[in-house]
Amino acid sequence: MKIGSMILMIALGALWTGCTGQHSTNFDNPDANYTWQVHDPQRPIPPVVTPGTEDRLPPSDAVVLFDGTDLSAWKGTKQPNQPALWKVENGYLEVVPQTGDIETKEVFGSCQLHIEWAAPAAVKGDSQGRGNSGVFFMGRYEVQVLDSYNNLTYADGQAGAIYSQNPPLVNVCRAPGQWQTYDIIFHAPKFEGEKLVRPADVTVLHNGVLVQDGWILTGPTAWKQRPPYEPHPEKLPVSLQDHGNPVRYRNIWIRPLPDNKDN
Ligand code: MG
Repeated sequence: MKIGSMILMIALGALWTGCTGQHSTNFDNPDANYTWQVHDPQRPIPPVVTPGTEDRLPPSDAVVLFDGTDLSAWKGTKQPNQPALWKVENGYLEVVPQTGDIETKEVFGSCQLHIEWAAPAAVKGDSQGRGNSGVFFMGRYEVQVLDSYNNLTYADGQAGAIYSQNPPLVNVCRAPGQWQTYDIIFHAPKFEGEKLVRPADVTVLHNGVLVQDGWILTGPTAWKQRPPYEPHPEKLPVSLQDHGNPVRYRNIWIRPLPDNKDN
């Protein structure tokens, strides 16, 4: 019995080694399937970026969309050439209900976005009516902003949800009035003519916690609908939603990402 157990353990060990590929992979072997060999001296060295003095502050290669002073990077969406009409005070901007969404003047495709937001300290309404706003990529794909602190609503509509598609992994919402962060990595969809060749995906950290882990979007986000993809330009504005609640934003910056997902 004892010898039998030993044989079994040795057999399991050998099997495990086989499964994990130990002793069997030659990492120095050039492979025509890869652009670069391992430790290839010809491989370009990544550019140097100076980080912010805090991780929440923009690094040297970021495009600053709002630094607390003005809305010069933004415009309104209700009419052509409409200025952004939201309120700027004390280093933040605030939704002015009924003035419409605002969008960036510059257009973006795949990107890393940092944005901070606060739901109104004075709690009014419930469910989707409390502290509702949203971060839209390309005018179509919404990461929901909502006061989800002790506020029940449908799962795929709460803070950190890909609206109407996927709930956040956890609810990590701070109390209304407190500042919260979203760090979002968005990969734009790819079209060849009318055909979708790669769907969009999005990763979201809410207050530093992963809430969307590379969610592959089924198409644009929409209330009570699951519309299919429709071809659109490679770059479009980022927009913030006027949903009738005076949600605040501050410290907004973005880093365009290289389109290297297929490498
Ligand atoms: Mg919304």
